[in-house]
Amino acid sequence: MNWKSGLQLRDHDAGVRVELNCPPGGCGRTIRPSIGDIIERAEALGIEAPEQLYLDQVAARLKCRQCGRRLVLLQSHEENMEAFQGGMP
Ligand SMILES: [Zn+2]
Repeated sequence: MNWKSGLQLRDHDAGVRVELNCPPGGCGRTIRPSIGDIIERAEALGIEAPEQLYLDQVAARLKCRQCGRRLVLLQSHEENMEAFQGGMP
């Protein structure tokens, strides 16, 4: 179990941002939606009760707005913060 599959969207703070990347072969775009944005987009895609799904399940259904490829989930806010703090003196 890891942060991607261990937590449902409702277990995250709606303001937490994650990083989604358009895969190689796509346009290479990286977006940083918040959990709230992801829930909204999932609802717009017709996914029922996205807040009860796991983050990786929902991310796998989101597509790049620019080229239409499936986005890949890169890392969580928490991991970003750890890396950031690790770099502090
Ligand atoms: Zn793309």
